Amino acid sequence: DTIGANLDRAVATWPEREALVDVPSERRWTYAEFGADVDRLASALLGAGVAKGDRVGIWAVNCAEWVLVQYATARVGAIMVNINPAYRTHEVEYVLNQAGISLLFASVSHRTSDYRAMIEDVRPRCPALREAVFIGDPSWDALLARANPDARPDELSCDDPINIQYTSGTTGFPKGATLSHHNILNNGYFVGEMIDYSEQDRICVPVPFYHCFGMVMGNLAATSHGACIVIPAAAFDPRATLEAVQRERCTSLYGVPTMFIAELNLPDFASYDLSTLRTGIMAGSPCPVEVMKRVVGEMNMSEVSIAYGMTETSPVSTQTRREDDLEHRTGTVGRVLPHIEVKVVDPVTGVTRPRGTAGELCTRGYSVMLGYWNEPEKTAEAVDAGRWMHTGDLAVMREDGYVEIVGRIKDMIIRGGENIYPREIEEFLYGHPGIQDVQVVGVPHEKYGEEVLACVIPRDPADPPTLEDVRAFCEGRLAHYKIPSRLQVLETFPMTVSGKIRKIELRENYGG
Ligand code: ATP
Ligand code: MG
Repeated sequence: DTIGANLDRAVATWPEREALVDVPSERRWTYAEFGADVDRLASALLGAGVAKGDRVGIWAVNCAEWVLVQYATARVGAIMVNINPAYRTHEVEYVLNQAGISLLFASVSHRTSDYRAMIEDVRPRCPALREAVFIGDPSWDALLARANPDARPDELSCDDPINIQYTSGTTGFPKGATLSHHNILNNGYFVGEMIDYSEQDRICVPVPFYHCFGMVMGNLAATSHGACIVIPAAAFDPRATLEAVQRERCTSLYGVPTMFIAELNLPDFASYDLSTLRTGIMAGSPCPVEVMKRVVGEMNMSEVSIAYGMTETSPVSTQTRREDDLEHRTGTVGRVLPHIEVKVVDPVTGVTRPRGTAGELCTRGYSVMLGYWNEPEKTAEAVDAGRWMHTGDLAVMREDGYVEIVGRIKDMIIRGGENIYPREIEEFLYGHPGIQDVQVVGVPHEKYGEEVLACVIPRDPADPPTLEDVRAFCEGRLAHYKIPSRLQVLETFPMTVSGKIRKIELRENYGG
């Protein structure tokens, strides 16, 4: 199917069910209403001369219009280009030119970001850009007024590129993954299947739509199963998220681990009624076992699912299921999704590793991207001739078919010839009573090549743990070479908009 056909089916099957709720603006749509608004916007795009294959950018914080643009561009076969709302002029200029965007949707402003001013600034240097349309602004209504009810979109195929999505930029400069209807629609459908979505479900999405977690695992999973998307706020806010769950009686909540940690640590956490929650998805980075236990126990999300994936694979490759016990739900990223293959190989030789040993995870199937947009060399580095995507992640395939993520190849610390997986030390330090959150990175060391630096956010900022405390806590319980030799106390970690911690910045800032 194409994404448009998928939406038609949802509208025909569940016309009266709620499809979308935008909490900050108190607007709501049934599937019938949502389908009609998508059609209106699609017709306006045709009226504005947008044709199949044209790149239409969206540079906006979360709002209902984001979702409308996603479906309307898919309907006409335009390639939607998601632009990180945290970008500034330098980065947006790069994306506008790299992707050749002709029409750009944008928020007017958000907090310190004045999108309108930034677009005016770069416009002279972006020759492909014909038009900018601002959300909640007269330019949006003017676009709708150009709707051409007689115009028909070109014939679409489910293998057409439909979306360019940039990776999070956790390990370097983001790369634009080009994805088809087939890639992301199937993935959204299967992700929803794994956690038994139905038209009874209401999914709270505090993660950015700009990233596949929101737009695929949220929006496409919802329309595939008749569920409703609830937008708690324009950008992540722990309090707004829990308020939306309570008010909208959500059954499912999404987040990266740091978001769940922020919610659980709200001083008034216990006052929210989260009894309607049954499931949710935690993904994007490793989840500490302690956090997972609290999500299950204190947030009522007994069926919460851990998903593992990457932008290049639409995104999800493995996921835990409803029937999995707490051990698998906390210690693994689940089993491979239907119609996807995985293998664990020696990163140097490419030879498949035996079960139970760590190697680079590779994935293959319908979900592998078409390629990086206009970057054939980078595509060839990531996707081999056999169509295997080399993820850059270290994983272990257990005997029982469950996959464990050990860490990223780039994050592995090599100290005096010993391989150290930061994740193992992070898990251990979460058990320290004075530590609220912790990231472990390797920093240069003259003698050992690298040494272990622990960056911690203390539970009590007035009484942070010292390096001696931390070392004493590890002594006798961790091998000597894994014990941090340096400590950095921080208030927050540098994050990507998708909520991931940029270890690269921790290394640069505190490694000297
Ligand atoms: P970039 O490729 O630009 O450096 P990125 O890899 O963080 O950024 P994404 O595509 O958003 O960009 O994220 C995919 C990566 O996130 C995976 O390769 C993996 O390292 C990590 N990841 C995703 N889900 C999980 C999970 N459940 N557990 C551990 N790590 C995860
Ligand atoms: Mg990546």
